[in-house]
Amino acid sequence: MSRIVYVNGEYLPEEEARISVFDRGFLFADGVYEVSSVIAGKLIDNAAHLARLERSLSEIDMAAPASSEEIEKIQHEMMQRNNLDEGLIYLQVTRGAADRDFNYPKDAKPSLVMFTQAKKITQSAVAENGLNVISLPDLRWHRRDIKTVQLLYPSMAKQAAKEQGADDAWLVEDGFVTEGTSNNAWIVLDDGTLVTRELSNDILHGITRKAVMKLAAERQIRIEERPFTLDEAKGAKEAFVTSASAFVMPVVSIDGSSIGDGKPGDLSKRLRTIYLDEAHSF
Ligand code: PMP
Repeated sequence: MSRIVYVNGEYLPEEEARISVFDRGFLFADGVYEVSSVIAGKLIDNAAHLARLERSLSEIDMAAPASSEEIEKIQHEMMQRNNLDEGLIYLQVTRGAADRDFNYPKDAKPSLVMFTQAKKITQSAVAENGLNVISLPDLRWHRRDIKTVQLLYPSMAKQAAKEQGADDAWLVEDGFVTEGTSNNAWIVLDDGTLVTRELSNDILHGITRKAVMKLAAERQIRIEERPFTLDEAKGAKEAFVTSASAFVMPVVSIDGSSIGDGKPGDLSKRLRTIYLDEAHSF
């Protein structure tokens, strides 16, 4: 069955949806995006995703194609038209179509595109087993706080991981882990303290990261926001990643070296359960 996708005011079967060859998203990766998860027909933490979209747009001087309220209405219409009970809703804003020129066009109208992906995301075999990650140098640009559609390096890194029999990669810069290719990286120390890198332009300001920090703080779990090295991560008691589509996902090895006993850690599993239990309230 074909999906209904949204393109600039129209709800269309995916085969009929069109974007211009001159759209700057296509020519320059001049665009930003958001992914929100849907559980039991409800968007999770969506206001935070739409707030980050606004921030990404303002950082690249791009006009919003619609207000957050209007965007959320379209998201709900999309969920309804696609009968989406569980999965993801992807939205992308690009600067629109204009003759190819590096400078921003004065009169281009931003494009808004949305599609849904029906997927079992709450029950996951991967979460039971944990992820095996490799490390790679972080060769991305230096505004990783902006959620741009410029995802070639994360794709290269995920592909390299796959070719080495791993699930994902953690990116390393100046000796410290920045984040995963599409998630924020965390470790757990022997005394149960959570460590995740502080917010800066070096990482995406993850919505799930923020939610997990709040849930952990409410339970008196200690958190340190600071960089950590690959060696510290390899020697950690536990490791995990967070993202809107993976929630809290245990990491069980880095570059072939087991974390803890090589199984998903207790605190990682507990935080995943807490997140999923509370997700409906975000
Ligand atoms: N870092 C990067 C590089 C990402 O691509 C993502 C997911 N889009 C995240 C972190 C996690 O962010 P969120 O929790 O908002 O999905």
